Amino acid sequence: GPGVTALSSKPGPGSEPNSEDEADATGKRRRHGRGPARENELLSAAPKAHPVSAEPRRIHMDVEQAQALVRKLDAEKGIEDNVLSSVDQDKLDVDKSHGGSMGPIVIIRGLSTVKGLEGVELLDTLITYLWRIHGLDYYGMTETSEPKGLRHVRAENKSYNETNAPSGSEWEKKLDTCWQGRLERQDPLEIMTAKDKIDAAAVEALDPFVRKIRDEKYGWKYGCGAKGCTKLFHAAEFVHKHLKLKHPELVMELTSKVREDLYFQNYM
Ligand SMILES: [Zn+2]
Repeated sequence: GPGVTALSSKPGPGSEPNSEDEADATGKRRRHGRGPARENELLSAAPKAHPVSAEPRRIHMDVEQAQALVRKLDAEKGIEDNVLSSVDQDKLDVDKSHGGSMGPIVIIRGLSTVKGLEGVELLDTLITYLWRIHGLDYYGMTETSEPKGLRHVRAENKSYNETNAPSGSEWEKKLDTCWQGRLERQDPLEIMTAKDKIDAAAVEALDPFVRKIRDEKYGWKYGCGAKGCTKLFHAAEFVHKHLKLKHPELVMELTSKVREDLYFQNYM
């Protein structure tokens, strides 16, 4: 079934304290849950993913991709030990020893229940989590700071073939390119850190260009050390500002090493 039915399970950090009644921690479909009519309404109104998304092969790929996204986005936001990121190692070992090709399974331990999530159920829980916590519309291939409106859901089309819905492979390529790109990309917070690092490095690199001058009458003065410049300031930080403003080429040169290093760290 389409992903909307898994909307209620909201595992891991970020759960509201009073959402216990909603989250049965099993990801079980709530056919008789609160307002099934409303749920169906939402379901039919929600934009649909390409029917190829319902293919078992595709489900398998999407479980792994969605789980990687959960790990990545959780890490970016400092969310640790999300049960959805875990993979039951015993299960994997068993699968391997039997030559099986099963996907990952996540074990949800409630107060009195233990349940394994896998396949479609696991996928729906993962993409619901991505949407609720991270504002990521997996099938819609978008990411926002706050989830608003309806996210894309899997189309209920079990008998997918190229004739009833062409360009499935194109859609898959688009989906994978989008999320593989996201997985490789740096998160905005880290980019900020990179800028901070450049700024910090700039301060260090510019320091030799601050000439501290003892003035008999006025005490310490700070002179610009750029070639041919005779400007004087009351504090070193003003010299830094002046250097950035009036001698940008010098600043670029002095910080190029650190910018290069950061570039290689981030993109190579
Ligand atoms: Zn100057």
